[in-house]
Amino acid sequence: DRTTDAWRHLDAAHHLHPFTDYKALAAEGSRIIVRADGCSLWDSEGTEILDGMAGLWCVNVGYGRDELVQAAARQMSELPYYNLFFKTATRPAIELASRLADLAPPGLDHAFFANSGSEANDTIIRMVRQYWALEGHPERRVIIGRQNGYHGSTVAAASMGGMSAMHKQGGGTLPDFHHIREPHHFKYAQDQDPEAFGREAAGWLEEAIQAIGPERVAAFVGEPVQGAGGLIVPPPGYWAEIQRICSKHDILLIVDEVICGFGRTGQWFGSQTFDIRPDIMTLAKGLSSGYLPIAAVMVGQRIGRTLVEKGGEFVHGFTYSGHPTACAVALETLSIMERERLVERVRDDVGPYLMERLGALREHPLVGEVRGVGLMAGVELIRDKTAHAFFSPVGKVGTRCRDHCFNNNVIIRAVADTMVLSPPLVITPAQIDHMVDTLTRSLDQTEQDLPTLMA
Ligand code: PMP
Repeated sequence: DRTTDAWRHLDAAHHLHPFTDYKALAAEGSRIIVRADGCSLWDSEGTEILDGMAGLWCVNVGYGRDELVQAAARQMSELPYYNLFFKTATRPAIELASRLADLAPPGLDHAFFANSGSEANDTIIRMVRQYWALEGHPERRVIIGRQNGYHGSTVAAASMGGMSAMHKQGGGTLPDFHHIREPHHFKYAQDQDPEAFGREAAGWLEEAIQAIGPERVAAFVGEPVQGAGGLIVPPPGYWAEIQRICSKHDILLIVDEVICGFGRTGQWFGSQTFDIRPDIMTLAKGLSSGYLPIAAVMVGQRIGRTLVEKGGEFVHGFTYSGHPTACAVALETLSIMERERLVERVRDDVGPYLMERLGALREHPLVGEVRGVGLMAGVELIRDKTAHAFFSPVGKVGTRCRDHCFNNNVIIRAVADTMVLSPPLVITPAQIDHMVDTLTRSLDQTEQDLPTLMA
């Protein structure tokens, strides 16, 4: 009977672009999500699923927010769309730009809107190179990112990112991108003092700059906490040293706050948590809580003034840059966050509680490390704790654990063998209990699977 959902799952494999392993989708199908409220999703069979990933790190204020529906509806009926070209602007776009300038770290007071994190990062690449060209240094073109960093899926944003699997597909990276190792203490230097490791990992930037030639380097880009790259919390001193190296060589510092921004780390921005003073910042996801697509590039005086005073027209922009309906939803999202003090809630309440509950998992035979900040946490699985031996092939065990969590109706993501938890900021302590208990049960199930899984 082709009307059942089981058939629709299979049809999805034929007609829906599979953002996943095509063979797995064809064999197993996918669950159709039909409804959501708070931190819960419901599938087409009526089963409730706890969303431990806030969609994809975006639905910070939770699902089912009528305020956001109303904000969109009001704007849709008044002015659904207009653009920001040809001497026109819209009130929501102007208001959002100034709200973001107020919230952002000091100095980042100009917003350029885009529709996705990928587009925003792609925009930065042109902006940074145009900046150096206007400053009389067109040879400053190289952008240094980090291995396993993710900055988007456009060809340029994927080049800026350090995902080798992405580089292999589609013909390699564009020229003038370089990647240093990510500051992954547990992977590279479990026995080393974290502070010494922080200095060493930042030193990889200095080495790269020397190898490339400082006169050719335009910018360094990184997330405060590397998210899709495995939830890498920077070791102490890392960002201070990165900042110092960038200043020393007059290299622009780009901070990708697509995941870390809007409360995830327990401050409005990860830059504040780690005391980073970026020249440029990328925002997306939590900006509208995922209800509509919107992203922003925040730039400071240094770049803003050069682009404006020396540059004339910056020939760049998207049809939907500053889309008024998306801006209206973003403005209401920020209001909800302020009204409900969600950033403080992460910092003082649910963030510490999540880390406390996860801390107990350190005793689990499969768990090598528990790390996190605010309401973003990683639980890294390891084959042998005393020998510091990781699983090989990488990712198989993490994926199995993720599947157990999903079958147990909690969404927790696996990045290689790290289980990543990043629920909506409105999650309750009882829901955290449920999420961590389910992860624990799924780890037990995974442990039982090991002999056959790794055979
Ligand atoms: N930067 C980071 C840090 C991200 O995590 C993502 C998305 N996961 C992006 C950029 C790209 O954003 P988008 O998917 O909206 O293009």
